[in-house]
Amino acid sequence: MQTEYCELCGAPLSGKAKLVRIEGAKPMKVCDKCAKLGTEVQAPRAPRTSYGKDYIAAPVPRSAPRAPTAGAQRRRDVFDDIEGDVVEDYSKRISAARQAKGYTQNDLAFILKMQEIDIKKLERGERAPTDDEREKLEKELGITLLDTGDAASNARAGGVAATTLGDVLQVKRK
Ligand SMILES: [Zn+2]
Repeated sequence: MQTEYCELCGAPLSGKAKLVRIEGAKPMKVCDKCAKLGTEVQAPRAPRTSYGKDYIAAPVPRSAPRAPTAGAQRRRDVFDDIEGDVVEDYSKRISAARQAKGYTQNDLAFILKMQEIDIKKLERGERAPTDDEREKLEKELGITLLDTGDAASNARAGGVAATTLGDVLQVKRK
């Protein structure tokens, strides 16, 4: 068995070495005597994410560990179970198809008996089209705004705030 030495004074370490942080340096294994010069830190059981320079003195945990992205993952699974989702890039499809037809947003709103502000919101991706709007847009612009399912989860990582679960269910209920 290898003998360990105090990293500060070089004395052999008897028994349990103390992990101590002194003046912001990395934690060192030191003897009992030298341990009084710094702040003792607990040997981390799980890997810590950060030993940044600003994390110096207090070995007190700031907060309970967070479970990373569990919520987002679950939410995505919910969406994956639903067929007939409005496509992720509906805003781009609407905008591109409208311009290809040479319509202004105002023109399209007039043709579809919609409000121009709604066209703007759809093209900005601020909200997904309702079932009724989607059908009118698809018919007039010759586009598809429903996800056929094959690339369902590809582009979803970006998180579209506009498509609420309510919207999706509404589409499906029909
Ligand atoms: Zn020492």
